[in-house]
Amino acid sequence: MAEEKTTEENLPASKAEKIALSGLSLPELEAFVRQLGLPAYRAKQLHTWIYAKGATTFEEMTDLSAGLRKKLDQVAQISNLKLAHLQVSKDGTRKYLFALPDGKLVEAVLMSFADRPNLTACLSSQVGCAVGCTFCATGFLGFTRNLTSQEIVDQVMAIQRESGQRVANVVYMGQGEPLLNAEEVIASIKTLMYSVGIGQRHITVSTSGIVPGINRLAEERLQITLALSLHAPDAKTREEIVPISRKWKMPELMKALQDYADKCGRRITIEYVLLAGVTDTEEQGRELAYWVADLPCMVNLIPYNPTLSPEGVVPYKRPSIDAQQRFRRLAEKTGKTVTIRLERGTDIDAACGQLHNAYQQGKQ
Ligand code: SF4
Repeated sequence: MAEEKTTEENLPASKAEKIALSGLSLPELEAFVRQLGLPAYRAKQLHTWIYAKGATTFEEMTDLSAGLRKKLDQVAQISNLKLAHLQVSKDGTRKYLFALPDGKLVEAVLMSFADRPNLTACLSSQVGCAVGCTFCATGFLGFTRNLTSQEIVDQVMAIQRESGQRVANVVYMGQGEPLLNAEEVIASIKTLMYSVGIGQRHITVSTSGIVPGINRLAEERLQITLALSLHAPDAKTREEIVPISRKWKMPELMKALQDYADKCGRRITIEYVLLAGVTDTEEQGRELAYWVADLPCMVNLIPYNPTLSPEGVVPYKRPSIDAQQRFRRLAEKTGKTVTIRLERGTDIDAACGQLHNAYQQGKQ
């Protein structure tokens, strides 16, 4: 039989080189079985076991012969993502720190919301981040490397394996700027859709405003949500708190968003961090209204989650509830829907980059 053609020659040289399968798309699994001299239908079987049945070992794959299961176990493993640390909040939020095969660490979060029956996973797309937002713990880390599509998708699978629950929504809002890793992120979205079974309308990509990446994503004409982390409407403040915004000015950015909305038929989400005395002024509320007036969008206000900088200082203050509501009323004058983000996991290091930093500093 074709599946018996696996030989010593095409086995990896050592256990350390075992190929991880979780997070691979069906065509990638087909390439894997082809390499082993196995027929194509074996890829479909592996695909079903990994994604539909959540198998964690080859031993569970009972429609494969014992010999094939043994061979697969010699050359492959289900996942090479290791759980380095897990924090569970009183509200049920689970924050994961995963170790990649090269020892690098990335964060992912599993959240549930009272108004949504389904679980949401927040994923990382890079190790560290080059954008350098001044209010973000990941921004303090700097950029290390892009994640592969497989490493992104396997975060969802690893969360499902650990929690025993199915993820229904995915947001690319963890560590990294997804659109500075656009090709791997787009590939991962397709694997989430076609292999993991997450509806494209349940996927959100959040960007700090990488115009070439927005244009690239628009070409795919996916039905996913694009969220812009605007954070400040005036160039001076925006360039100060989101340094990469010096590259793409507001008119160019707004045009890219409008094109995205036109091509994909989707409303944009504008994310706006509220920093007391920095981004919550009346003038900024009016300027925000000016920029979003003609854009099909909704606005999500995010009260600042205090984060220690490497110098050990908290660089900003969180606005009072009154100030948050005042800014909300200003933003509502646009006629757009304006929400204030419901926070999860405030008793753990749930803000992006916090768990990674705390772990690295040996706090955990
Ligand atoms: S907020 Fe996002 S884009 Fe900005 S530094 Fe943090 S991870 Fe990067």
